[in-house]
Amino acid sequence: MEEKVTKIIPVGADGTETVRSYTRDDIRYMREAIRQARLAYRKGEVPIGCVIVYEDRIIGRGYNRRNTDKCTLAHAEITAIKRASKVIGDWRLEETRMYVTLEPCQMCAGAIVQARIPTVFSGASSPKAGCAGSILDILTNNEFNHQVEYDQGLLEKECADLLKKFFVELRIRNKEEKRARQELTDQMTAQGDGL
Ligand SMILES: [Zn+2]
Repeated sequence: MEEKVTKIIPVGADGTETVRSYTRDDIRYMREAIRQARLAYRKGEVPIGCVIVYEDRIIGRGYNRRNTDKCTLAHAEITAIKRASKVIGDWRLEETRMYVTLEPCQMCAGAIVQARIPTVFSGASSPKAGCAGSILDILTNNEFNHQVEYDQGLLEKECADLLKKFFVELRIRNKEEKRARQELTDQMTAQGDGL
């Protein structure tokens, strides 16, 4: 039997706890998703990565390329879905599992339901944009013809730390650019004064 890694998650205000187990494979696949997120990070993109697994192998990978491609649709999950569909030869991804480093947005959650992906694991939650429970819950909504089994929290810290690092560095970069622009304006003003 496959060894499981157990994680205890506190739920509810009354402090009750639930025990969740992840297989070593789950952890391995989320690590692959994090590797994809790092590719986004290296391109200066918000580091989000995704893999889709079918019969114990990865059939679709994707990372956020929204700025690189100048395309709203270039989210990690959409790219992974496109690639997986090509491999399977069908828009239905009924026997697959998705591992994504951040809770999906409304577009990707919609695509996951449309593609009929049965199981999704996400790492970090996305309080301001997530549609797997944070803002909306598209994945498990009973009104749709397909519901997704959703788990959030697999390698959560690693996924969230990469995002935090990106946004801290982005703020520093933005501050430096602002200062450089201000210095240039000051120099031009000083030169103008000297004329
Ligand atoms: Zn998305």
